[in-house]
Amino acid sequence: MIGAVVFDVGECLVDESREYGNWADWLGVPRHTFSAVFGAVIATSDDWGVSKPDPGFFRHMLEVTPGSADEILYVGDRLDNDIRPAAALGLLTALIRRGPWATIQQEDPDAERVPTMRIDSLAELPGRIAAFNETA
Ligand SMILES: [Mg+2]
Repeated sequence: MIGAVVFDVGECLVDESREYGNWADWLGVPRHTFSAVFGAVIATSDDWGVSKPDPGFFRHMLEVTPGSADEILYVGDRLDNDIRPAAALGLLTALIRRGPWATIQQEDPDAERVPTMRIDSLAELPGRIAAFNETA
């Protein structure tokens, strides 16, 4: 039974293409140039001192989230950074088709095999979670 939902931020809660596009416009550089350079140099960091896909990130998330791994749904847009490492620790997972990674990874067999569910919109989540919990 799903008792908690944890969201990846980039492309799940924030449309990074729009966000980066605004930065590119402000800087006066082509949007695709900004996106490529930013993607090449970005180094994810956080207060936990560990970042995805390091299993330590998901272990720390488990420590601060109520419930056990099989009661937590992790929502992410990437197989490599979100879904595979979360599932490896026993978390339930939802792969959202959104942003560039959805296009790059949507044909990967793991996109069907690994996540607990696939969604096209966050608006689907309440209904999908309710349906999942009815069978749990
Ligand atoms: Mg993301």
